Amino acid sequence: MKRLNRRKFMATSALAMLYGASPAWLRASGTTTSRTSATVPWRNWSGALEAHPAGRFAATSEEHLAQFLATTQGAVRPVGSGHSFSPLVPTDGQLIVIDQLHGLLDHDPAALTATFGAGTRLGDMGAPLQAAGQAMFNLPDIDRQTLAGATATATHGTGINFKCLSGYVTALRLVTPAGDIVDVDATSDPQLFNAARVSLGALGIITRMTMQNRTPYRLKQTTWLEKTDVLLANFDQHVAQYRHFEIFPLTHSDYAMALATDETSEPINNPTPSPEEDAAFDDAMSGWRMVPPAMRKPLINGMAMMIEPSERVDTSYKILTNVRSNRFNEMEYAVPLANGAACLEEILWTIDEQNLDVVFPLEYRYVARDDTWLSMSSGDEDHAAISVHRIASEDYRPYFDVIEPIFWKYGGRPHWGKVHSLGAAQLGRLYPRFAEFQALRARLDPQGRMLNDHLRKVFGVTG
Ligand SMILES: Cc1cc2nc3c(=O)[nH]c(=O)nc-3n(C[C@H](O)[C@H](O)[C@H](O)COP(=O)(O)OP(=O)(O)OC[C@H]3O[C@@H](n4cnc5c(N)ncnc54)[C@H](O)[C@@H]3O)c2cc1C
Repeated sequence: MKRLNRRKFMATSALAMLYGASPAWLRASGTTTSRTSATVPWRNWSGALEAHPAGRFAATSEEHLAQFLATTQGAVRPVGSGHSFSPLVPTDGQLIVIDQLHGLLDHDPAALTATFGAGTRLGDMGAPLQAAGQAMFNLPDIDRQTLAGATATATHGTGINFKCLSGYVTALRLVTPAGDIVDVDATSDPQLFNAARVSLGALGIITRMTMQNRTPYRLKQTTWLEKTDVLLANFDQHVAQYRHFEIFPLTHSDYAMALATDETSEPINNPTPSPEEDAAFDDAMSGWRMVPPAMRKPLINGMAMMIEPSERVDTSYKILTNVRSNRFNEMEYAVPLANGAACLEEILWTIDEQNLDVVFPLEYRYVARDDTWLSMSSGDEDHAAISVHRIASEDYRPYFDVIEPIFWKYGGRPHWGKVHSLGAAQLGRLYPRFAEFQALRARLDPQGRMLNDHLRKVFGVTG
């Protein structure tokens, strides 16, 4: 039987849903909020969220932004690159855009810290950091998010020793809803610092952030397919052995793709996949998604067994992030680490048992604990982050509605930037400092001008 390498497999199988390229958002039929006429619509990355803001305020400087907030009234919502799946951004007021507040502003070679404009995309940080002799400890799956947007939702990568991005913020500048410019760090105002590092854009507009970094490094990533139960049985060993480890369990299959990543001094070897090769395999196997879910297992298992392990080596930030051009919607919960495997197994069992027609793989990662008030890993426990996905053109609700209670059963906290249905009552039970955040938010924004319907539900604000 012909062997497949990982890139070919990913271009032609369920994994292509994550790694492929198709403008599915053009066909998306999603939730619509805040519709008025004669405005330029805003849509999120997946296309499921749409809003018609009254206008967009593009800040050219911190002073410009402060003056705008001090001299206007009414609803405002900061927006990053629109990569959240939850309706954090939609407003019929003003969208605050800080794209022009970007780039490396300062760095400290001794402390290995660097300050960026908060509108900088994560993907625009790696090269200037490298030139300054620094690199970020970890990164999420993609690098299109802004620094402010990513930290606002506690965006994370994988690795048992690595916190979410917010855990590496050492200082930030906040323009409050009243238009005051405040510099915040762990000593100047520890309460505000620990709240503002994961703030859902509810405390003000963050204009710059200082990150703790390290020296530049190179990573080698090894990818292989293995039976999910074997991977789970050896999970603790893999997690301890590799700097980063994650798995993508394939639905309606016994297999998962494993990604193990470690520091290396080996030469760079990170070839771009050949489109011709991928197209040939795409032709050969494009029909498998038409097979009913209950009959897919032998097909997917057979494909999985043909996959050869692969390796790539590159500068850290080029290995840690990927391109996800095939649009989808996602729900992710962080469950206490000890519950991770059982929660994942119950989700996979439920998908099979209820014959749910899901082609997207799940994703299972690790995030270390931190001391912010609202990160999904805040507190004294490390967490496992488990994601489920649905192609953007399909209604995600029926699938996510079945899976979400499983996350609750295992003590999960929803990713702030991904689909969830929780309100203030449930969230207050999940976060010991939630009431303090609510009080701080009310003090900084007594008029509630930074709230939208979603945030009113999240923070329990009525009227
Ligand atoms: C393809 C894809 C892959 C992803 N991969 C990961 C992953 O690997 N790990 C992970 O944890 N998440 C992941 N996410 C989720 C994503 O990282 C978060 O939703 C993130 O918050 C999006 O950042 P953004 O810049 O697009 O911000 P937006 O989605 O535009 O906004 C997010 C929040 O930030 C606030 N905000 C934006 N700018 C400011 C500001 N200047 N001041 C204050 N608040 C502000 C907004 O008001 C909002 O509350 C992924 C999302 C997608 C679409």
